[in-house]
Amino acid sequence: MADASSAHLTAMRPLSSHVAVIGAGASGLVAARELRREGHNVVVFEKGDQLGGNWVYTPEVESDPIGLHPNRTIVHSSMYQSLRTNLLREIMGFRDYPFAAKEEDEERDPRRFPGHREVLKYLNDFAGEFGICEMVRFETEVVFVGLVEGGKWIVKSKSKTSDEGLEEIYDAVVVCCGHYTQPRVAEISGITTWKGRQIHSHNYRTPEPFRDQVVILIGSSSSATDIYRDIAGVAKEVHISSRSIASETKEKKPQFDTMRLNAMINSGYENMWVRSKIKSVHEDGSVVFIDGSVVVADTILHCTGYKYHFPFLETNGIVTVDGDDNRVGPLFKHVFPPALAPSLSFVGVPWKTVPFPNFELQSKWIAGVLSNRIALPSKEEMMKDVKAYYSSLEASGKPTRHTHDIFDYRGEYADWLAVQCGSPVLEEWREQMMLTVAKNWLVRPKTYQDEWDDNHLVLQAYESFKNGV
Ligand code: FAD
Repeated sequence: MADASSAHLTAMRPLSSHVAVIGAGASGLVAARELRREGHNVVVFEKGDQLGGNWVYTPEVESDPIGLHPNRTIVHSSMYQSLRTNLLREIMGFRDYPFAAKEEDEERDPRRFPGHREVLKYLNDFAGEFGICEMVRFETEVVFVGLVEGGKWIVKSKSKTSDEGLEEIYDAVVVCCGHYTQPRVAEISGITTWKGRQIHSHNYRTPEPFRDQVVILIGSSSSATDIYRDIAGVAKEVHISSRSIASETKEKKPQFDTMRLNAMINSGYENMWVRSKIKSVHEDGSVVFIDGSVVVADTILHCTGYKYHFPFLETNGIVTVDGDDNRVGPLFKHVFPPALAPSLSFVGVPWKTVPFPNFELQSKWIAGVLSNRIALPSKEEMMKDVKAYYSSLEASGKPTRHTHDIFDYRGEYADWLAVQCGSPVLEEWREQMMLTVAKNWLVRPKTYQDEWDDNHLVLQAYESFKNGV
């Protein structure tokens, strides 16, 4: 990771800012807590009627199942009915409010990989423990955020319960609106005239609509593998199309996604095939893959991820979101746009990491910088760091769309944030558990959420929860 680590703790006079937090999902909740702890005056805007963001499961789907129509009805959450976490609860929770199993409560799901309802309950527990709801304006959507004189921000919002919009001035804005709502789909030759059904995983809820169908599922992420397992039980055939298959021979070492696909191939589903990328689709329903194979399909299910989307944000071109390349930038350490720091910041932009502890550290950093407890490098140094990071990505052959994929340096990143904040670095058992899950997935692709060999790490985790961060 490129570094401009001249940031440090300062002894300057603490400042209290009036801060708008956009979103009351996991990132907005912890941002609100950290900002208030640091003495800021916080308003959280939440367009939904409850907290939890992506973890608020709903059977509702959008009016355009592929999620491309600009005027479609929008459903925020991408959760499907069967979803269990893909991270162990011990590593998933906030560090100073662990996601420990509540065995004593029959209403709770004590599994190490619990279902989505348990995560929502945990977030509600967190909000209750720290009195977050009193800071939240529910059913209030932020429709515009723009710069005004003096480096402040105008925030325009619309409440569901009133026809009048509201305009307010804030010293700082923290964007916590998530990035799993705006579907990304692959370009496929012939797709506009293909007669079959198309759906993006954002609008996938249950397997039943795929009964007896021939389904092409594009992608190999964790959602793709969950959904594949869901529908393989009812569909006639499931063909997984992955670009990892085509590039496998060019890669120096197989990527985790490729290994996961291989594990799937060997996992014993007789109605499942793993195929290369799609070359083209045709009016007669056929789907041609780049290896020359052909399948006539009923449905294409795009598990192709999401785009960053901040429709309310107007920064006069200072922060841009590159739609195709999925880069938000420039952002120093994925958080502060150098030219607008510290009054504008983002929580939760990185992916392929452990989200909640990451949100917690980013939020502590933002709160500490806004109060003058933590110093940032100069704008020039931050910009230099961003450019060096982009160059390092290019030199390593990583595509731009992986700008915020921090998998390879997730531990280093979290430790860097912790040091900025004066917090302890992440405990060693967390990384060991993460690696154990990844290995377990490859060995037991069907049962990794219920069988494991790392009880010694579980003991360490609960011991460390007892002692606190
Ligand atoms: P969100 O949860 O999306 O919350 C954003 C909030 O902002 C929402 O409540 C939304 O209504 C609100 N909002 C948006 N725009 C506005 C606006 N203009 N005005 C007002 N409010 C607004 N992570 C894990 O740790 N473990 C897992 O097992 C896991 N599984 C996942 C499975 C799926 C299918 C997906 C899609 C993601 C998964 N994740 C998982 C990632 C997960 O989304 C993050 O952990 C986390 O929930 C994201 O929190 P967030 O607060 O950044 O965003």
